[in-house]
Amino acid sequence: MKINDKQLAQVNDRIKALVDAGSFYGKKLSEAGITSVSSAEEFENLPFSEKKDLRDAYPLGLMTAPEDKIVRIHSSSGTTGTPVIIPYTAKDVDDWAEMFKRCYETAGITNMDRIHITPGYGLWTAGIGFQNGAEKLGAMTIPMGPGNTDKQLEMMQAMKSSVLCSTSSYALLLTEEIEKRGIQDKIHLKKGVIGSERWSKKMRDRIASGLGIELYDIYGLTEIYGPGIGISCKYDTGMHYWDDFIYLEIIDPATGKTVPDGEMGEIVITTLVKEGAPLIRYRTHDLSRIIPGECPCGCGFPRIDVIMGRTDDMMKIKGVNVFPSQIEEILGSFHEISSEYQIRISHLDGKDTMRIYVETTGDYDFNEIAKKVAEKVKSRIGFTPIVKVVEVGVLPRSMKKTARVIDERFEEN
Ligand code: ZN
Repeated sequence: MKINDKQLAQVNDRIKALVDAGSFYGKKLSEAGITSVSSAEEFENLPFSEKKDLRDAYPLGLMTAPEDKIVRIHSSSGTTGTPVIIPYTAKDVDDWAEMFKRCYETAGITNMDRIHITPGYGLWTAGIGFQNGAEKLGAMTIPMGPGNTDKQLEMMQAMKSSVLCSTSSYALLLTEEIEKRGIQDKIHLKKGVIGSERWSKKMRDRIASGLGIELYDIYGLTEIYGPGIGISCKYDTGMHYWDDFIYLEIIDPATGKTVPDGEMGEIVITTLVKEGAPLIRYRTHDLSRIIPGECPCGCGFPRIDVIMGRTDDMMKIKGVNVFPSQIEEILGSFHEISSEYQIRISHLDGKDTMRIYVETTGDYDFNEIAKKVAEKVKSRIGFTPIVKVVEVGVLPRSMKKTARVIDERFEEN
């Protein structure tokens, strides 16, 4: 999906604001001699922005609007090192609430819903984003924040909360607690709005059936407003994103080139109207793809797939970019094999080789399964792996998810 003329004009307006303010990116653009772009091709040659840059601009280097226009800051919780500070104008706060309201509406949530918000309030963008969007929608909010499960369940029953806003792990914990206490019939939840992270279908089904609710994936990151820049609709065919506020590209994380619609890669986002801290071509390191075509809901906003992982997980095999989630998805389509697997990549006789270990019971023909899995990987991803089928229980159980992929190419060198 190429950038259109209206979006291009908005980008130029933001470039001018950045340069005029002389803020962190304004200086970078000035130094590179960039004052505007006149085509999609020129846009695709603009330098990327990175989280590292945002840290370098600490504390207020990103501030692009005059201070009397700034009403708030948010900060992303860096696990290591300097945090990132994002300043917001009143218009930014309002635009964000507008996008979030649209998310609720896309999920079929109305001003008669009671929205139970469990993400945290404070420096980060989670709780307050859910809150402002719900207020703009006109719904009653129950601003819980995280933790204190007893209180959560008490309020959920007394207030008859109809929408749960949560991370997937907290939604699972609440599901289990509700079942343990046998209070399912006192819970009035109908829908869940769940912060998009990579979560398994198994977990999703567990929450949906345990609570008897429909689930919606919501997307966003602090650097770009916060959660609420996209959400799945009832057809669950990916997440619609608001292309009147953001321009979204998918790039090959290795080459930095944009990839055709439908192909997997890294999400890169440009804010089209943000004042406090506009970002041009910000690399999110989230993996997804643009879903071509129209959604059956007919809403007209473009879609990306649910987040498939992070670019750090990417493997390059025989010149093809592969993500563990793609293999996992293929393996998940075979009912004959268990959920455990291991991927080993090695370099033999001048060639990259991927071996996939899967487990099955004695009820199935090992060779038949190996052949079918290899064929499916070949047809979906484009190369043939060596598939080894073992008895259930043979693969190590205590391994963390990331350790399921072992790249032996680097050990050999
Ligand atoms: Zn839709």
